[in-house]
Amino acid sequence: METLLSLLDQSAHARASQDWSKLEALSVQVLQLAYKGTPVDEQALKSIIQSYLASIIGTGEFLVNLESRDSSKYQEGLSKLLEFLKKRPHYFESAADLVQAAQEISLLSLDPIPANRNKIGKLLRTLSRPDISILVCKQILETTRLNYYSLTVLCGAYCDLQRFDEAIEVADKALKFSPEGGRTYPLTALVRAHTLKFKATGDISEIELALEYGHKALDLRIDSYAANAFVAAAVASGNADEIAYAQEVLGKAEPQLRKADIAALFQAYQASQALAPEASVVEVVEEFDEEYFGDFDSLIDLVTREQGFYPVIPDLRNMMSLFVKGGWFFQGLSYSPCPKCEKVAVHAYRKHFKRYGKDMHYWGLVCDECKYATDSVDFDKKAFALISKDLEERFPVSGLCHDCVAP
Ligand SMILES: [Zn+2]
Ligand SMILES: [Zn+2]
Repeated sequence: METLLSLLDQSAHARASQDWSKLEALSVQVLQLAYKGTPVDEQALKSIIQSYLASIIGTGEFLVNLESRDSSKYQEGLSKLLEFLKKRPHYFESAADLVQAAQEISLLSLDPIPANRNKIGKLLRTLSRPDISILVCKQILETTRLNYYSLTVLCGAYCDLQRFDEAIEVADKALKFSPEGGRTYPLTALVRAHTLKFKATGDISEIELALEYGHKALDLRIDSYAANAFVAAAVASGNADEIAYAQEVLGKAEPQLRKADIAALFQAYQASQALAPEASVVEVVEEFDEEYFGDFDSLIDLVTREQGFYPVIPDLRNMMSLFVKGGWFFQGLSYSPCPKCEKVAVHAYRKHFKRYGKDMHYWGLVCDECKYATDSVDFDKKAFALISKDLEERFPVSGLCHDCVAP
């Protein structure tokens, strides 16, 4: 244990001092310890995989210098990690989004057109290399000055490095140049940058600006990205009216969340804010929510494979886009009857999500008599309470979910 802690400590130093070859060696040592059975908690494992990926990006020469484009060292490092993870598929789950980001960078770098380089800029933030993200975005902006996507990513990268004034400057620029329909992104980038600056400096005028931009963004369009940035600003402000409005817009932006879930989310978020040190940031959501199809554990795949039919999905509340995502698992058959056909036929599927530090689970209820799937939001409250209570008693979700950290 001693060794593990010391290795984690050394790797944090190597990361801070940008000693990439040292960081690579240290991350490999930690992964080897974990492989041999030393217990490493999920958060540390995820962070060490992130360190490893950050280290093989190194100076980022293959991403920045378009002439060289020699990514062989990166590709080699990535395939070594994939080989390793294949032997311990369990590790894969906690780091799936990191590994996916690393693989996408590898593919996109083969065809460095501006659109692909924009995406690389965004993915580099996932791998905690905002420094290279800044270089890539700046290069794109030299040739395409009015690229508001790059400007928005650049703003986020500056925020990662706590360089808030530069972040605000580029988001202002993005706002100026963005077309009518594209103003939500820069406005929301401004909400985040001013919120973070407020947290770092305590300057009240910063949070006032954040809220002002937030209202502007939400007046244009309510989506998950804008709503979640506003939630962070409202909670940071501590203003009850803004918090109430934030709950309302989050419910509109993510209609698959139940009211009780939203209340629980806010409670958890406010509690974690109260505990977090001043300048630390409770990170919220992916900035550009992109969907990845073809997961073998989407709700639709599970139902067609295990129940043998393709469920009917009401065209409501983005249920379809939730049900085609991966990460679903079967919880159990409810003894409480289906509110529609009154037969015992409701199969419950769940999907983990974490928001503001709280582990939660989406619902997918599938009746194999009626052959429909729903997020349960339209269910009669009493009927749903019976179903969820029955399931939780017999099949506690925390015991089934791979993403829930074991107590
Ligand atoms: Zn039914
Ligand atoms: Zn879970």
